[in-house]
Amino acid sequence: MIRVQSVASDSIGGELGLVPGTELVAVNGRPLEDFLDWEFLTADERFLLAARLPTGDEVEYDIERPEGLPMGVTLEPPRIRRCGNHCDFCFVDGNPDGLRTPLYIRDDDYRLSFRYGNFATLTNLKPWDMERIVEYRLSPLYVSVHATDPTIRRWLLRNPEAPDILPQLVWFAERGIAFHTQVVLVPGVNDGVELERTLAGLYGVGPGVLSVSVVPVALTEFSKHGLVRELTRDECRAALAAVDRMASRALADRGAPWCYGADDLYLQAGEPLPDAAWYGDFEQRENGVGSVRFLQTRIATAVDRLPDLAGKRIGVVTGKAMGPLMPQVLGEVAAATGGRFELVVVENTLFGSSVTTAGLLPGAAIERALTDRRDLDFVLLPAEAVNDDLVFVDDVSADDLAGRAPMPVRLSYDFVDVLVECGVRSAECGIEGHTPHSPFRTPHHGVGKGEV
Ligand code: SF4
Repeated sequence: MIRVQSVASDSIGGELGLVPGTELVAVNGRPLEDFLDWEFLTADERFLLAARLPTGDEVEYDIERPEGLPMGVTLEPPRIRRCGNHCDFCFVDGNPDGLRTPLYIRDDDYRLSFRYGNFATLTNLKPWDMERIVEYRLSPLYVSVHATDPTIRRWLLRNPEAPDILPQLVWFAERGIAFHTQVVLVPGVNDGVELERTLAGLYGVGPGVLSVSVVPVALTEFSKHGLVRELTRDECRAALAAVDRMASRALADRGAPWCYGADDLYLQAGEPLPDAAWYGDFEQRENGVGSVRFLQTRIATAVDRLPDLAGKRIGVVTGKAMGPLMPQVLGEVAAATGGRFELVVVENTLFGSSVTTAGLLPGAAIERALTDRRDLDFVLLPAEAVNDDLVFVDDVSADDLAGRAPMPVRLSYDFVDVLVECGVRSAECGIEGHTPHSPFRTPHHGVGKGEV
């Protein structure tokens, strides 16, 4: 059973009289377990919906749904499948106390993998889940493989019950399900010869494995440092060499590199990033693979639409990881706009200085970094650092931060979203011809997850 959270008034759901709190019980007699059932079973043009209104009345609707017309129903958030693994490098264990409750949830949920690209391990699949993945064609899924050797993988996941991943992937691939995979590299465990074995094993699955990313393990001050350490520069270089060998083979056989090192791996190895063309469609960008090149590509394609910012000083907040890479990106925006873009590199005071990604920057640290920067005309903040409620990892709201900052601030994923697509208010930066917007509603926000 699933429950309605809200209904758009000018929609099929609104016309039916569905209201918040309505229980959606079954479609064509098939019980509804979650949002996937709802989306897939109501995709037909005609179906019977059994529901229970908050009054307790049970109703059956005979629904005609012309193609493409949304039901207008947003469901209550799904109960997230918890992770049964206990990786030494688990980021949840690396969280300090006092964060928002959801940040302590270890999710391992194939449904979120399909919907949002979260990585899942497939260690908690029941036969019913496997059938469902095939029936609903939940493809591609994002899978944390780490190692194809079952013993090593079980050790990494700290889960002696973890099934053998290769037969699992093959079973799904034979039924038309594809995967983007990742290997989080833990020195002394799944690097070296094990990495080569894992890449070869995944490659051997065939086209069902669409890509593999190799990501260096990242630890915080609160991680289990007695059990796991980060890679040295030489270990990163060796891993990149293995990635290159496999990518060369894939390029020759399949016409695409298939196997990618995360930006962080290049950074830690002190080696230059591949060109943008290397990353194809940037399919693992959200996993930190090709993010810098993606940013540059976005800017290059929007160059003609970027505003004239001559005489303006624009701050760009980022974490230490992007600090060394960002100047090449900023140079391109500056050249295109005439503005002066200045990097504001913020250290992570919450997780410790070893956590360098912009997406985990606490609002309080950003605020401190901006307090005395009255010289800046406006500032772009990393949009990936807030959740859908526009709250930073330390519970500081972006709106509150904006209210206290000495200059206008905007959340941005890639510069282009703010400078072109959303516009920057002329009162803030003197750009003419831009429509005022809510400061924090970029096109990426406010999208109703779960709304169909
Ligand atoms: S799979 Fe490992 S890293 Fe991921 S949530 Fe579970 S314990 Fe944490």
